[in-house]
Amino acid sequence: MDAARNLELQEDPPAEAAARPSPVMEQYIEIKAANPDSLLFYRMGDFYELFFEDAEVASRALGIVLTKRGKHLGRDIPMCGVPIHRSDEYLHRLIALGHRVAVCEQLEDPAEARKRGSKSVVRRDVVRLVTPGTLTEDTLLDARRNNYLLAVVRARVSSAGEDMRFGIAWIDISTGEFRIAECDRMGLAAEIARLEPGEIVVSDALYSDPELAPYLRTLPAVTPLTRDVFDGATAERRLSDYFAVATTDAFGAMSRLELNAAAACITYVERTQLGKRPPLSPPVREASGSTLSIDQATRSNLELVRTLGGDRRGSLLAAIDRTVTPAGSRLLAQRLAAPLTDPAQITKRLDAVATFVVDAATRSDIRQLLNAAPDLARSLSRLVVGRGGPRDLAAIRDGIAAAKEIADRLDALKSAPAEISEAAKALRQPNPALAQELGAALADELPLFKRDGGFVRAGYLSALDEACALRDESRKVIAQLQVGYADETGVRALKIRHNNVLGYFVEVTAQHGDKLMTAPLNARFIHRQTLAGQVRFTTTELGELEAKIANAADRALGLELETFEKLAAAVIAASGAIKAAAEALALLDVASALATLAVERGYVRPIVDPSLEFVIEGGRHPVVEQMISEPFVANDCNLTTQADAGKIWLLTGPNMAGKSTFLRQNALIAVMAQMGGFVPAKRATIGALDRLFSRVGAADDLARGRSTFMVEMVETAAILNQAGPRSLVILDEIGRGTATFDGLSIAWAAIEHLHEVNRCRALFATHFHELTALSATLPRLHNATVRVKEWQGEVVFLHEVVPGAADRSYGIQVAKLAGLPPSVIERAKIVLAKLEAEDRASPRGGFDDLPLFAAPAKLAPPDPREAALEALIAALQALNPDEMSPRDALEALYALKTKAAPKKG
Ligand code: ADP
Ligand code: MG
Repeated sequence: MDAARNLELQEDPPAEAAARPSPVMEQYIEIKAANPDSLLFYRMGDFYELFFEDAEVASRALGIVLTKRGKHLGRDIPMCGVPIHRSDEYLHRLIALGHRVAVCEQLEDPAEARKRGSKSVVRRDVVRLVTPGTLTEDTLLDARRNNYLLAVVRARVSSAGEDMRFGIAWIDISTGEFRIAECDRMGLAAEIARLEPGEIVVSDALYSDPELAPYLRTLPAVTPLTRDVFDGATAERRLSDYFAVATTDAFGAMSRLELNAAAACITYVERTQLGKRPPLSPPVREASGSTLSIDQATRSNLELVRTLGGDRRGSLLAAIDRTVTPAGSRLLAQRLAAPLTDPAQITKRLDAVATFVVDAATRSDIRQLLNAAPDLARSLSRLVVGRGGPRDLAAIRDGIAAAKEIADRLDALKSAPAEISEAAKALRQPNPALAQELGAALADELPLFKRDGGFVRAGYLSALDEACALRDESRKVIAQLQVGYADETGVRALKIRHNNVLGYFVEVTAQHGDKLMTAPLNARFIHRQTLAGQVRFTTTELGELEAKIANAADRALGLELETFEKLAAAVIAASGAIKAAAEALALLDVASALATLAVERGYVRPIVDPSLEFVIEGGRHPVVEQMISEPFVANDCNLTTQADAGKIWLLTGPNMAGKSTFLRQNALIAVMAQMGGFVPAKRATIGALDRLFSRVGAADDLARGRSTFMVEMVETAAILNQAGPRSLVILDEIGRGTATFDGLSIAWAAIEHLHEVNRCRALFATHFHELTALSATLPRLHNATVRVKEWQGEVVFLHEVVPGAADRSYGIQVAKLAGLPPSVIERAKIVLAKLEAEDRASPRGGFDDLPLFAAPAKLAPPDPREAALEALIAALQALNPDEMSPRDALEALYALKTKAAPKKG
């Protein structure tokens, strides 16, 4: 192996003589110069080699040895190598780290090159660019997630220069999905949060734009490209060329910005695929407002597709995913990330789910059939870009067959709703003759790569059968020859072996070597090589046989590859029909999976309509209820009013009562309903939401280097500026990250704003009991609390949401549950009793007469310093720095600072 790797490099002249680069280095430098932004995988024998800076970067990233090889301009050339058979694994790691890789192959056999003269170099060129957004290999992709390439273009709208409009286009080249949309600055961030593209392409100018650069730098894998990719003048032509249509009018109305983004996207695809055109669907426009808008903070806060910690496990997606195919899993994730807003479309999806809920037999049959169906879309894409293997052909064969079977099974339905009957029609689109042809041509056991051969079924092609017979026959002859030679020489252990350098050779152990090298045996056995333990020979017969075998094997492989190309061409010709069937399979998987979930967990069909209602009866949290061992307590929520504005529920209650769970479950139920799924409740009616916001106070965002309170306020501002009467807003403990009075005032003002200006439906959980007084002045504010019982000094959480306000906070009881030392608990009780007594002696003023805090003095205890000092000491004693996370420590610091804040009299 290493011999082949070093063959060419050994041709390098000695270092001292290297006044100019060796021919190989010259070739390398030329190819590298054409691909400056990528790591160059330069094929040499059985390795991809990296040189110079690339070698340094890759060896660090991959943890592989950095060596040196020869000299360039008098300096050592750093080098590292990746063996071919493990290259996918290394590629995967480099791509995941955000690198791009140019794969440079040998375009001829080294023997060919040698024929041109001893100094000539093997022809090589880059055959593909591997970038995070343009992957097709199963080994490089997550089967259950889409991998999008997103292009962003911008136009300034107003002359004031403030407003920005963006055109965006996104493609998953592994499945052919292609979408376009237009949005504003806020929308851009929301779309990127929804799609989580593997790679984003922007123009150089946008990449260095002072307003956008800071945001773009926070995203992984943003690739700046030269202006020509975004050129408006050629956009129309580039797009119509790709789809081989006369004009793009056929794709429906498209704005200038959308057109430019779409053209940039496909141009980049063509560049990275070096001219090959993966099968894309024509671009579909996503009208703005057609999907529920959910910004990044809300997505991560609600843990829709992954938890705050970054895991799929524990997310809503993981809790509700009952799909049985990768394509179904991808579609479910897509739908969850982009719930609909149009009640009619939502109803269409719900009809399909309902059909499978009712008809258990069809549901289980369909799922069994789907279980056996392969990932059609991704196999098809690989075949089209020339990266497919025999198993991809088999996937097409099995996929078409499964599609037909499923269509037959669906015919048995008495009345199928539109979504199912449309899917059934699509399943019948691929021509069954294609599957039959593939079935006849492909062997039972298939190799991963076509270059390995052996995938065409015996009897399919007579010329191939002949070549194989000849090849196999000769192999038998070799076996006989070995027996004959052993007899002739009397060496029992004589073996005939094969390697790439010598071809077939006779091998004996060192002790028998001499015998074969002396007369009479040396007339037949020609010495080739002496190793430490063995001696190797050839014979004329072996040489002749070798040529015959090689010829036959070459011919057989050639015929197989021809067959492969013929079959692949037939598949590509049918790609439209195959794609339609693949999409239908995914859709049926999602509908039947949501039905399975609904039956398994007792979900109901929600009503989603154009009203402003929000009524959940007996709602549950879809993730928490699956995680806890005790029964989940179902709760109602009603945000409906008579007015054309929503109700706000103000939820108070001690820590651990279940406030956050209640808030989130209502948001999740809305998301599930609008994605077209059943919901964990007894009954649900939701006037379709246009936007969903969810924020938690004092979120930990140390990683981005912003103080937690700053983040909280930035996010609250975003909500107050954007939410409208169709929105649902969830605010959980806003105002927690700052001193009590600040926090209370901000929470107070925020509720007033939501009520008076945003007029949205909202849920607001708070530990500020003072806020409950607001219900006196705000007619659509409703106080609710989570019930707890005190029993023998312990607090018992009932998790039951009821009208009213919490009587007190039970902080000390909760602290006791958490395991604070008894001495601290006792001390805290004494301090509390004292504070409460002082408070009674000098009661606080009501909060209902605005302006706020007209008389804050009333809130202070008579001798604030003494009480504060005692509280401070108790709190300090309670801390155990060794057991605190950085976040805990920071919060404790905040808490201490709050306690120590001078309360002016
Ligand atoms: P809070 O926000 O009031 O501090 P959480 O919503 O975080 O409380 O809930 C604390 C814990 O109580 C949850 O982790 C969950 O285990 C449990 N819990 C919450 N709501 C319910 C419920 N409705 N039924 C059963 N257990 C619940
Ligand atoms: Mg909470």
